[in-house]
Amino acid sequence: MKRDVVVIGGGFAGMFAAAKAALEGASTILIEQSHETISWFEQSSGSELLTNNSQRLRVQSKITKGAEFMETPLKLFSPNKLLIQLEGIGIPVKIIGEEFVYPMDKCSVAAEKFRAWLAHCGVQTIVDAEVTAISRKDGTITGVTFVQHEKTTAVECSAVILATGGGNRGFDLLRETDHVINPIAASQVPLVIENSPLEKITGTTLPDARLYLWADGKKKADARGVVKLIPGGIDGGAVLDLSTSVLENSEACTLSIDLLPGVDEGAFDKDLTTMISEKGTATILELLATFIPKKVADIILEHADIPNRTTGATLTGKQRKALRGSIFRMDLNLTGPFPIEQAASIAGGCDLAAINPDTMESYVAPGLFLAGDVLDIATRWGGYSIQCAISTGRCAGQVAAATAKGIA
Ligand SMILES: Cc1cc2nc3c(=O)[nH]c(=O)nc-3n(C[C@H](O)[C@H](O)[C@H](O)COP(=O)(O)OP(=O)(O)OC[C@H]3O[C@@H](n4cnc5c(N)ncnc54)[C@H](O)[C@@H]3O)c2cc1C
Repeated sequence: MKRDVVVIGGGFAGMFAAAKAALEGASTILIEQSHETISWFEQSSGSELLTNNSQRLRVQSKITKGAEFMETPLKLFSPNKLLIQLEGIGIPVKIIGEEFVYPMDKCSVAAEKFRAWLAHCGVQTIVDAEVTAISRKDGTITGVTFVQHEKTTAVECSAVILATGGGNRGFDLLRETDHVINPIAASQVPLVIENSPLEKITGTTLPDARLYLWADGKKKADARGVVKLIPGGIDGGAVLDLSTSVLENSEACTLSIDLLPGVDEGAFDKDLTTMISEKGTATILELLATFIPKKVADIILEHADIPNRTTGATLTGKQRKALRGSIFRMDLNLTGPFPIEQAASIAGGCDLAAINPDTMESYVAPGLFLAGDVLDIATRWGGYSIQCAISTGRCAGQVAAATAKGIA
């Protein structure tokens, strides 16, 4: 078999790399070891961010490792260009808080549209096929070997794009082509909370909360957004965002949660005074339920040690202070991150020194291009990971096609 470009891995990086290479006129195959391309995305519950609706410089500021490296790929294919592309593919999006871009459809529906688009661009996709070797002659790429249903096939080509994500098999292929792999570590991960005061409402999603990370009484970081109360800990956008700081901090840190981040503490106190003067016989639980879901209000009262039949009129000054403390700074006993297997994003991967940041081509193995999570790039939470995967994929696809056609 002979092709211009072979793409290894059918995640977002591989898909966008293959589509671009094919659109540039290169005969392109994409080889994916699972049953389908972007299978993790297809199976997701629907809360996956496709990108972040921000300017390039802001996106770069959210890249915690490899920000400089990402300059050219983000210039070539910015979030704005991705939004236009998504519209072209027929994937409607919703933008929450003016920045977080989610697919409007279920992820399974969006995944089908991505696949149809890939075929439309002229990419031949081979699934259930694992690439087991990359061949070289005098250091330069000459092809790949893949195994599908126990049958081994060799493909000759002059450009290979490796987009195998953070999995070990891709790193093995890279080591075999003389690349250095930096140690893998989690960069966005749920957090373990012991004896959580919120334990009774595990399974609840708090759509808007703010988390604070403290060290020595000083604020180290904070993050606002969704907090999911999961068995043994917390997950969700705000948690994944804050987890980057938790993982970076070597000193002992404590965590607290603000359950009413949109409300100023002083304004809350004033509103409470007004409500008590107007409805002094109402229970404090009833009054609190005007600010916050009742099951969360229940927990707040329990945490503040206030019997929930207490009326507004009988609430003491001490109880009122405890109430504010439980709402705006409820301490959570953070014991660490969940294991790396549960990470939403990893750091580590192919050392960037070996890769040309303008082309994604390896200096060590000419004709080999890298894209996506296989590169040692790490980001904050917010849709930046997929954007980086897609931007590096587009860049690699464009240059790989030109290389294969001898016009680079
Ligand atoms: C649960 C979860 C939720 C996430 N949510 C978000 C989010 O909301 N927003 C965001 O920006 N990021 C999110 N991420 C991170 C995001 O998924 C990654 O940054 C992105 O998928 C990286 O794309 P990629 O193409 O580089 O790698 P991957 O998506 O990992 O794709 C690599 C592909 O290569 C294939 N492969 C590997 N080795 C071989 C081989 N030898 N032969 C053939 N095929 C091979 C794999 O099967 C895989 O399909 C999430 C991650 C997880 C785990």
